[in-house]
This record gives sequence, structure tokens and C-alpha cells, in this order.
Amino acid sequence: AAKDQGKNRFMIFENRMHEQLLNRLDQEARLRDAVHRGELRLHLQPVVGVPDGRMHGVEALVRWQDPERGLQQPGTFIPLAEETGMIVEIDRWILREACHTVRQWQQHSPQTAPDWVSVNLSAAHLELADLTGQVAYALAATGLSPHCLVLELTETVLMRDLAVTAARLQELRDLGVRIAIDDFGTGYSSLGYLRDIPVDVLKIDRSFITGLVGNGRQQELVSAVIQLGHTLGLRVVAEGIEDADQLALLTVMGCKFAQGYHLGRPEAVGALYERRQKETATAHPG
Ligand code: C2E
Ligand code: MG
Ligand code: MG
Ligand code: MG
Repeated sequence: AAKDQGKNRFMIFENRMHEQLLNRLDQEARLRDAVHRGELRLHLQPVVGVPDGRMHGVEALVRWQDPERGLQQPGTFIPLAEETGMIVEIDRWILREACHTVRQWQQHSPQTAPDWVSVNLSAAHLELADLTGQVAYALAATGLSPHCLVLELTETVLMRDLAVTAARLQELRDLGVRIAIDDFGTGYSSLGYLRDIPVDVLKIDRSFITGLVGNGRQQELVSAVIQLGHTLGLRVVAEGIEDADQLALLTVMGCKFAQGYHLGRPEAVGALYERRQKETATAHPG
């Protein structure tokens, strides 16, 4: 009987594995179709000037309008997309859509349009031989000025192969595109790569902003990172600002750009556009 029980348990385990595998294959297939079926959505989150409060730029964030499960956040499908390589296609779509959207906005309503858009790139993208060609193509096809595009890469991605990365990024910068280090402080940051890798923007990770209020040591750290960035001539953006107290502290620290729910959540392009039109009309009536 004990033997049978063991066997049963194993079968239950096996069934569960089988079920998980089928789920994964199913999701993989549906994600693969998502791009072609037009189920990806571009959302934009404002990057705001401190202390002027003006929207200077936007970050492009992908969403998946899954017909079965509704609007999906990147956390639910980006890992699978990265494992399967589908991320390259997703990133290419977002890049093109972001460039197109911001260019159209700048043309139709320059007073309310963002000055720049930043797009996230996964590791796989940096390994593509023709990354520079793809970016150049997206710019040429949409008419967006290279100075209006920022590419965001995480430290971990940047550190993979310093020599290759540095050369690749320099090609992109030669186009006029800027490079941001995303989630700064969460990877294996060695200061050496700030010396060797050409970057323009440093985005301080949200984990350094959470708990900032009331933590003197963390405040010293964030303040030092802001000074370091400015000394190196970089634009520094603080991520994940969720309340007015955090914003007040960052203002005192001399931070010039901030992003977070307190300043604006990621939203569909149409919604952000409409809100900007209304805000501007209220600020400058007639
Ligand atoms: P990220 O690039 O660091 O983007 C910032 C994330 O923080 C976004 O999550 C944003 O919605 C969230 N966020 C912004 N402000 C706040 C805040 O005040 N509080 C909190 N709790 N969260 C805030 P999202 O959109 O879920 O994206 C998560 C990550 O997925 C991104 O982190 C990025 O690494 C990745 N991702 C998003 N879109 C793309 C894409 O098109 N391509 C690639 N390769 N990765 C993407
Ligand atoms: Mg980012
Ligand atoms: Mg980030
Ligand atoms: Mg992140």
C-alpha cells in the first residue's frame, strides 16, 4: 500500500508538471501571436522636471491586451519573452511605436509633447549585430529626431561584455541617441563601468527611494549618487516617487528629474495626450 501511495504521489506530481508544461506552451504560442494580432499596447509614464513639475520626457512601457486574461503587465510575460527570444520582436515593436507616437505628438501639439521618449531594451537586443541599424531604421521610418530617443539598459546587461557593449553603445550615440542605465544600484555596480561605458542618463532604482523618508543613511547614499551623476555630466532620474515627502527630499538633494506614481502613472497614449491637452488649456486659457 505504501508503495502504491508513493506511485500515486509521483503520478500526481507528473500530472502537475505536465499541466505546467502545457500552460507554458500555450502561453508561449499565444504570446508569439500577440505581436502579429496587434495585442501589444504602448503605455507611457511621464518623467517630470524637479522642481518645475513639467513633463519633460516619457518612458515607453509595454502591455499585452490578452483576449483571454485582460491587460497584462510586463512582469507576467517579459520573463517568458526573454527566455524564448520573443523579446527582440516585442522590443522592436515598442521602439517603433514609441518613436512614431512621440513624433506624431510633437508635430500635432508641440507645447504638450514630451521632449524625449525612453525605451527599454533587453539583453538579447544588445547582442543583435544590427541593433544600430534597427534603431536608425526606426528613427528614419518615423521621422523622430535621434536626440529625442533614449535607450534604457540595466547594469547587469551593460556589464556582460564591457568591450562589446562599449563599442555598441558608442555606435548608437554616434547616431545622436542617448543611453540610460536603468535600475541603477541594483546590479553588480562597479564604478569602473561608469568610466568605460558611454552613458548619458542614470536612473536611480525605486528600491533606493522606498524608505528614503526617515532613513538618514539612505538619504546620504542617494544624495551622493545624484552628485556623482552630475559630476560626470549625466542626467539623473529618480524612479518610483510615490509621495510628496520623497519628492521634497529629492528636491533638496538637487535631483532634476523624477518618475513615479506620485507624478503620473503609466497610461495609454490617448489618455495621457488628452490629459496634457486639458492641463495646458487650463494653465494658459485662450
Ligand atoms: P523599468 O524599466 O524600471 O520601469 C519602471 C517600472 O516601475 C514600470 O513597471 C512602472 O510602471 C513602475 N513604476 C513607476 N513608478 C512607480 C511607482 O511610483 N511605484 C511603483 N511601485 N512602481 C512604479 P512595469 O511597466 O510593470 O515594467 C516593469 C519592468 O518591465 C520595467 O522596469 C522594464 O524592466 C520591463 N519592461 C517594461 N516594458 C518593456 C519593454 O518594452 N521592453 C523590455 N525589454 N522591458 C520592458
Ligand atoms: Mg526602464
Ligand atoms: Mg527602472
Ligand atoms: Mg525595473
